[in-house]
Amino acid sequence: NLVPIMAKLEQRELGNTGLKLSSVGFGASPLGNVFGNVSEKDAIDTVREALNLGINFFDTSPYYGDTLSETMLGKCLEAIGVPRDQFIVSTKCGRYGSGFDFSAERVTKSIDESLSRLKLDYVDILQCHDIEFGDLDQIVNETIPALQKLKKEGKIRFIGITGLPMEVFSYVLDRVPIGSVDVVLSYCHYSINDTALEDMLPYFKSKGVGVISASPLAMGLLTERGPPEWHPASPELKSACKAAAAHCKEKGKNISKLSLQFSLSNKEISSVLVGMNSVQQVVENVAAAVELTTVGKDGDILLEVETILQPVKNQSWPSGIQKS
Ligand code: NAD
Ligand code: MG
Repeated sequence: NLVPIMAKLEQRELGNTGLKLSSVGFGASPLGNVFGNVSEKDAIDTVREALNLGINFFDTSPYYGDTLSETMLGKCLEAIGVPRDQFIVSTKCGRYGSGFDFSAERVTKSIDESLSRLKLDYVDILQCHDIEFGDLDQIVNETIPALQKLKKEGKIRFIGITGLPMEVFSYVLDRVPIGSVDVVLSYCHYSINDTALEDMLPYFKSKGVGVISASPLAMGLLTERGPPEWHPASPELKSACKAAAAHCKEKGKNISKLSLQFSLSNKEISSVLVGMNSVQQVVENVAAAVELTTVGKDGDILLEVETILQPVKNQSWPSGIQKS
């Protein structure tokens, strides 16, 4: 019983950038075949449907599918022919199929490569990708200053940092001038099983930084299909999520819808990035968002799922070279 999509998707301001992002953002990592193969036609149809339904924010990285995600997204945007001021693109630098390199030289070259794959003159946001794998002092002293130059040159409009452990964000934000980092992208920390991002929101606000939250489905854990084989969660966390998904199904509910609505319900988060690789997923996810603003949350099933996930609440996994 899908609620018909009548309204355009809600948009939310991103920190001090002046950008208005759709509350549901399009995670383009699946276009790099990260969750299984996607044909060019399916990719184009999926991106077109997203734009039609009011999704204006697309996130990619040269790392996803070893540049394939950027190339595919570029082909899609070109094929659809949407005017440049109608969509917002973020890509990343410093993480590649070949490994990590946050040097000024590499990230400066990297944006040109990304722009050429995306077939764009500029990206709206360029983010240092998974900084816990880099030297954080290099991020502060070398990478972010290099990105400031790219901003002056007009190749990027805003600067961001991404990562899994929360402490890398404050390490950097406490050491750079206010206003030099515009955005943080956190992932897997604002979903039913893990809400660690919530505690950091006042801090990010105090730093004038906009917040994007990715992976509301915990990179596939909170789906009926389950996570991909490479998923880093512990067996305990995987089996708790599997039990939660089974419980929802038994009650005639969908774990992915519930999870996305949970992530969307905090308006301090400007956009929730969901990885999508089919028209059906786009339709379902936008419908879930619209239903949340019109009908509201499904509180009973949420409470049941929260109870199932309580033993693994906020359980994460190690990431990066810093201690966490
Ligand atoms: P996700 O939690 O969004 O899960 C994606 C998976 O869920 C895919 O398998 C997708 O096919 C499936 N899915 C999507 N909608 C569904 C639906 N309605 N029903 C059932 N299954 C559905 O995880 P993600 O893709 O890793 O994260 C989203 C995006 O966020 C990424 O594509 C990327 O753009 C961004 N991201 C960035 C970082 C980073 O910068 N370090 C990390 C993680 C994610
Ligand atoms: Mg990643």
